[in-house]
Amino acid sequence: MHIQSIPMWEGSGNNYAYLVVDDNSKDAVIIDPANPSEVLPVLKKQVDSGAINLKNIINTHHHHDHAGGNVEMLKTYPLPIIGGKDCTKVTKTPAHGETFNVGSIKVKALHTPCHTQDSICYLFEDGEDKAVFTGDTLFIGGCGRFFEGTAEEMHKALNKTLAALPDETKVYPGHEYTKGNVKFGIQVLQSEPVKKLEAFANANKQTQGKFTIGDEKLHNVFMRLDDPTVQKATGKTSPVDVMAALREMKNNS
Ligand SMILES: [Zn+2]
Repeated sequence: MHIQSIPMWEGSGNNYAYLVVDDNSKDAVIIDPANPSEVLPVLKKQVDSGAINLKNIINTHHHHDHAGGNVEMLKTYPLPIIGGKDCTKVTKTPAHGETFNVGSIKVKALHTPCHTQDSICYLFEDGEDKAVFTGDTLFIGGCGRFFEGTAEEMHKALNKTLAALPDETKVYPGHEYTKGNVKFGIQVLQSEPVKKLEAFANANKQTQGKFTIGDEKLHNVFMRLDDPTVQKATGKTSPVDVMAALREMKNNS
């Protein structure tokens, strides 16, 4: 599979839309094309030349900076929209664990309610190649705010649902937030993996697809709730309490 990142609102929201193409069939999906003026020119070129067969719009959750481009996108590409139940114009909400195909790529929907109740992460598998599109649930070195959910739900989303994916799965989040995340992470945990992430974020403007679920388990403090250093920094020991305390500390940092 081929994954093309399309940065949107660079310098403010720092969002990413992602175009994922099956190498064999050229079947393709566009994930979170929230700002059509930045996404449509990229798509148009490839659709018009026959390089891709655009099949679906996919949304990770209903927030306007993820699903807010749907109405405008449909004017050019009247395609079925796969996404969470609250996404504008959604045609299909897959059940947790439900799979569908993009050409020969197998896609699995993983419900991860918390940031929003309709948050869905999508695992794309093409042979050995694995990628997960995490919206605003998991960021490189961080996680989304708990707008519609609880610390218990985020703990389940990150440390049960996403942590269960193969370690080599590459992570593609909805925003480029790594620099800010690691600035907080390093205050909590001064480990080698966190220092490495800090160095990478300082040297690279884009970090999406550069790290895996295995890396997140090492450098993401929200996925290290059992780490004695993280527990000490929060003054808590039970995983849900540590998660809640970390989020509160990050919100106030
Ligand atoms: Zn959001």
